[in-house]
Amino acid sequence: MKTPELLAPAGNMEKLKIAIHYGADAVYLGGPKFGLRSLADNFTITGLAEAVAYAHDRGVKVYLTVNSYPDNNELPELDRYLEEVAPIPFDALIAADPGVIATIRRISPRREIHLSTQANTTTWRSALFWQEQGIRRINLAREMSLEGIVETRQRVSAGLEVFVHGAMCVSYSGRCLLSSVMTGRNANKGECAHPCRWGYALVEETRPGEYFPVVEDERGTFIFNSRDLCLIRYIPELVGAGVDSLKIEGRMKGINYVASVVRVYRDALDAYTADPASYRFKPVWMEELAKISHRGYTTGFLLGKPQDLDQEYDSRYLRSHELVGLVEETLPDGSVSIGVRNHIEAGATVEVIGAGMREAVVLLDTFTDQEGTPLTEAHPNQRIRVKLPFPAERYDLIRRQKP
Ligand code: SF4
Repeated sequence: MKTPELLAPAGNMEKLKIAIHYGADAVYLGGPKFGLRSLADNFTITGLAEAVAYAHDRGVKVYLTVNSYPDNNELPELDRYLEEVAPIPFDALIAADPGVIATIRRISPRREIHLSTQANTTTWRSALFWQEQGIRRINLAREMSLEGIVETRQRVSAGLEVFVHGAMCVSYSGRCLLSSVMTGRNANKGECAHPCRWGYALVEETRPGEYFPVVEDERGTFIFNSRDLCLIRYIPELVGAGVDSLKIEGRMKGINYVASVVRVYRDALDAYTADPASYRFKPVWMEELAKISHRGYTTGFLLGKPQDLDQEYDSRYLRSHELVGLVEETLPDGSVSIGVRNHIEAGATVEVIGAGMREAVVLLDTFTDQEGTPLTEAHPNQRIRVKLPFPAERYDLIRRQKP
């Protein structure tokens, strides 16, 4: 049985290190241009080279997203950009637009190309078409069912990649103009303002300002809002389907999200592939995924067309826990240096989580500044020292239950 790669988002260098530490086999990231997350803290050209070197030193692959749909007037800039990244030894470039793919071919003929979800591959015939164009891996659209994935595997020899976790569009990925029309921010250029997640009302055109609620049920009016994808319960089915890569969405999400999602899917994937016969779903995986920001979970289209319950009739983001800090250094005296991300007071009860589903609850009764002066509270961007009652590791996260 082949173990699929676990592919994680790396929105910046810190998130890349977290993704790798928590068990990603590969990461995908965007450079300064054409990468569909123009509002993310993207890598510079130098940063891309450093990221690839860091990942390769740890046996982790790196894919660069070049998956936006450029305009004619952007083509000279596309050429220059692809020439700039050509010397960087990415394991593949991720693209969707045939013109971009042709340009990669011309500038970097030996470069492996993966087809982005933006190409909306929903059938084995489309997958076969892309395979015949020399595409080495195809991201199957989130709109494909498990049955469709299995049939595609039987007919297509190129690598197949499926999303297992993260936000869903209410439209096919990239085929949406809501954000462009309503805010001028173009989703196809990576600037989506996510208006599908806003609340909507009905207004009669001669009575502006009089809002009539649109109520699909007693809970609300968020008619375009999809729950987030979560396929943690279907790891055996996905491995059995023969997919090559399980992809996690979320280059804009924080380190808490990256760490939690990667460690859960890593644990499930390792548990299943080590011993399929004795594999059992662990409730702790769902408990962990409930702790991070999400909008309710759905299995999307995997088991068939989504039903009413897959819509989230409520704009709230759910999460039971929030990040407090990141272990930045372990010190010779057994204490750790923590980079504080959210205000914390001495006496708080926190969770320390680490790779491999390590987890412990501790009372943070005392902590000091870097010089050893006791503190009663600490603020974001401050560094504190803490003596934990167990050995912690660099990149462990400190989080607490939300009030
Ligand atoms: S508005 Fe919503 S559906 Fe449209 S591209 Fe943005 S996230 Fe996707």
